[in-house]
Amino acid sequence: MDEPFVIVGGDAAGMSAASKAKREDPELEVIVLERGEWVSYAACGTPYYVKGEIEELSELVAVTPLEFREERDVDLRTQHEVVDVDPDSSTVTVLGEGERYELSYGTLLLSTGARAVEPPFEGMDREGVFTIHSLPEADAIDVFVADTAPETAAIVGGGYVGIEMAEALSARGIDVHLFEMLPHVLDPFGEAVAEAVEAHLAEQDVTLHLDTAVDGFVGRAADGGAQTDGAEEPATDGTVGGVRVAEEVYPADVAIVGVGVDPATELAEDAGIELGPTGAIATDQYGRTNVEDVFAAGDVAEATHVVTGEPVHVPLALTANRAGRAIGQTVTGDPTPVGETAGTAIVKAFDLGAARTGIVDEERAREAGFDPVSVTISAPSRPHYYPGGSKLTVTLLANAESGAVLGGSVVGEEGAKRIDTIATALQGGLTVADLQGTDLAYAPPFSPVWDPVLTAAKVLEGKLA
Ligand SMILES: Cc1cc2nc3c(=O)[nH]c(=O)nc-3n(C[C@H](O)[C@H](O)[C@H](O)COP(=O)(O)OP(=O)(O)OC[C@H]3O[C@@H](n4cnc5c(N)ncnc54)[C@H](O)[C@@H]3O)c2cc1C
Repeated sequence: MDEPFVIVGGDAAGMSAASKAKREDPELEVIVLERGEWVSYAACGTPYYVKGEIEELSELVAVTPLEFREERDVDLRTQHEVVDVDPDSSTVTVLGEGERYELSYGTLLLSTGARAVEPPFEGMDREGVFTIHSLPEADAIDVFVADTAPETAAIVGGGYVGIEMAEALSARGIDVHLFEMLPHVLDPFGEAVAEAVEAHLAEQDVTLHLDTAVDGFVGRAADGGAQTDGAEEPATDGTVGGVRVAEEVYPADVAIVGVGVDPATELAEDAGIELGPTGAIATDQYGRTNVEDVFAAGDVAEATHVVTGEPVHVPLALTANRAGRAIGQTVTGDPTPVGETAGTAIVKAFDLGAARTGIVDEERAREAGFDPVSVTISAPSRPHYYPGGSKLTVTLLANAESGAVLGGSVVGEEGAKRIDTIATALQGGLTVADLQGTDLAYAPPFSPVWDPVLTAAKVLEGKLA
């Protein structure tokens, strides 16, 4: 019998690959090794679990282990960790159920994901300081908040996870302070989005500390407040009491550190698998690594940017699901490209939606070798006479010479998902004129006749002429 298709990591990329491979070739033996208890779970939903909108963590699971085993005939081994990959003998070494064993593979997929960056902050190990990258971490935050009823929270990092957690903790009645070392939150979304989101966060009583680098966390003093320099009272316990910024200490009864992720590449590196310039595993258009019969997909791997053609690390769910699915098809004998990415992303910031795709600011476009022209317009999401609707701000970038759309952003209370139109333009290699000529749907409850994306394209075309 052929050697099995072995998958390391049982979430978005891994389980997509397993399901697709079994669907295409039911005879293929597929073994998934997942070190955790959960598989096929939506980490993306965890902020909403902490917020209280989702009652059970198990609701975040798309397909249960039982369904994978019984309905999809996948040999799924949870709480089995791969500790070594040996490409010379085509084996992996596994620790599971108190045993250490070796497993041969015909084809191997590394879908080990990423982990939350833990900066070398003083006091990072204090009780009440969390990162959020897994279901157990979300559970721990939820329990800590329920048990200790914090008054003040510090969110470190103004990326999408930080923004989502600001909303989640505010909804739990906590006074939220958000610290971001850059001049703006949501840096990859560009300035127009950042400014709208910052104004909205302030309206929601989130205190923003921009251009502010956190140094660490201090303990809680005997009086319950933050321990400050020169405080005479020692910390009562190891629990966080404040966040330190240079000489200042801001009170914080709970802290969430969301400063990005690092691809989990250790197994790959030890096995001599090459990393790319971003630090994630380098792959070709089929998700193959430099080592024969070894693929990589999802947050652990690089992808190719649809606009620049350069390798990028885009740790987002669709990139992972799609690459896993394509690899599942490839290993059954039908070579299928994993597809390119535009880094399309959308985030809810309280009542605002903020979205981005491709290249969203001129400086980055120039760095990528383009001669960018851009516009930012504001337009209503519905006609003026129709109830509801809100202002949408759309930024669109193009290359002056070719007129090709390079990227854009959308922010507003209603309709940020319109970013998908711009993402589609990138995928199709459309020019601004093509985009402006696209027949988008119109009816008053949904859109003005000229959709705001079309209006942005019209204005940009005028600039390009
Ligand atoms: C709070 C949060 C919110 C998010 N929101 C969004 C969103 O709104 N939109 C979006 O597109 N993306 C979002 N993401 C990102 C998205 O969840 C990831 O891109 C996606 O989960 C990546 O899937 P993956 O399969 O590559 O990796 P992961 O989901 O990280 O899964 C990797 C798996 O591998 C296992 N593993 C690792 N090493 C080993 C080993 N040695 N042996 C066995 N198993 C191992 C891990 O336990 C893990 O289960 C969010 C992420 C977080 C944390």
